[in-house]
Amino acid sequence: MAKVRVRFAPSPTGPLHIGGARSALFNWLFARHYGGELIVRIEDTDLERSAPEYEAMILDSLRWLGLDWDEGIDVGGANGPYRQRERLEIYRPFAAQLLSSNAAYHCFCSEEELEAERRALSAAGELPRYLGKCRSLTAAERERLCAAGRQPVVRFRVPEGRVLLVDDLVRGRVEFASDGIGDFIIVKSDGIPTYNFAVVLDDALMGITHILRGEEHLSNTPRQLLIYQALNFQVPEFAHISLILGEDRSKMSKRQGAVSVVQYREDGYLPEALVNFLALLGWSPPGEREILDRRELVSLFSLERVSKSPAVFNLEKLQWMNMNYLKNAPLSVIFELCLPHLVRAGLIEDRLSPGRRAWLEKVVDSVRAKLSYCAQATEVAAAFFGETAELADGDEEARLALAEKTAPAVISSLREKARQFAEWDEETVRQVLKEVGKELNVKGKALLMTVRVGVSGRSHGPDLTALLVLLGPQMAARRLDYALKNFLNREDD
Ligand code: GLU
Repeated sequence: MAKVRVRFAPSPTGPLHIGGARSALFNWLFARHYGGELIVRIEDTDLERSAPEYEAMILDSLRWLGLDWDEGIDVGGANGPYRQRERLEIYRPFAAQLLSSNAAYHCFCSEEELEAERRALSAAGELPRYLGKCRSLTAAERERLCAAGRQPVVRFRVPEGRVLLVDDLVRGRVEFASDGIGDFIIVKSDGIPTYNFAVVLDDALMGITHILRGEEHLSNTPRQLLIYQALNFQVPEFAHISLILGEDRSKMSKRQGAVSVVQYREDGYLPEALVNFLALLGWSPPGEREILDRRELVSLFSLERVSKSPAVFNLEKLQWMNMNYLKNAPLSVIFELCLPHLVRAGLIEDRLSPGRRAWLEKVVDSVRAKLSYCAQATEVAAAFFGETAELADGDEEARLALAEKTAPAVISSLREKARQFAEWDEETVRQVLKEVGKELNVKGKALLMTVRVGVSGRSHGPDLTALLVLLGPQMAARRLDYALKNFLNREDD
């Protein structure tokens, strides 16, 4: 095989979404697997919707995912510039060539005329398309229209009666009849090429060997093939990757995970987990194992195992996968991911003293196993924060624990014992709990659940010993005191 050259060519019209990230990843895996090259370039011909901020966000997300590229935006290369808007001079002679070989022509139809044509075709039950009014204008007619101030577009003259064949590496043979296509615009009246034209020129001039992209672009491929043929360019291989659907098999919604990569990053997912998860959206590794690191993905990836059927986005699976990766991540990484969420929720100050930081690290360490993603820290670690803990609404189990006859005695006994310490460690906490149980002759749930509800107001939460250690005996005592007065309505026992 000739040296593989693939590309990722996002339009900077929004942040990088799951679908785009998956396309970028598949291209990256393919390039790295074959020792080829990945080019990243920007398709910014949609002047109204493109914005430099989105370009920056997309590149940032790619880097965060750990995807690097060999040529293109930021890294440069022999085939630049890599933004379509900076390549207008490069495109111009090719439009001229198509015009002079009669493969394209100037069209002067106004938007209103085209709209009327589309409506008439729809009303007659036909596919709305351009019927070729300007196909055979004479030079004199063209001049007259230009003199009248009409700015023409350039349309590609689609040959009639042709079958266009795409030998897709994922979908197999796909045929398109040229008759349904209609002469399409390749250069707009402002001189900016359309996507179908610019993408072909970029891919051909940059020596792209394989085009791996989303299935939504399959219907563009016959148009692009026609341009390749008209310009005598070598046609690259195509591989159209299936759509990503939500769990109910409809178009993926926000709730089902159709959010930007930035959002997952902010929510405290690890890039390794997202990469692993995205790789499995439409590709399946040989063997049973699903947790595969970057190196393994590169070595196993192949288009043969990319599926034709739609990939289904399963948020729970992503969370499960992230939890797996969090388990093996260093505490410092998890800490940094949790911190902004705790600060934003007002649970912790943003300027931490070294002591407070050390304490918070222990808090994070004690809850890390429960996190699917780090934004959950505000919930999962809530019990560690605040002078008092209110009784959670609707927590039936907590209410039952407080209804135990022994509950007031358990809570006040632990409060008294806690008051005698300035600090305590795990060993001491275990010892003290044991003493309370022994003295009052309670054990199991009646002891531990009652204490848990007494200090945290809820029946579920972090490891109880860790909670008591990290709250410290004085805080624990104050919370137990609060529970006695407010949950049990007792002044004292
Ligand atoms: N700019 C297109 C997009 O963002 C990519 C088109 C292509 O890969 O050919 O969907």
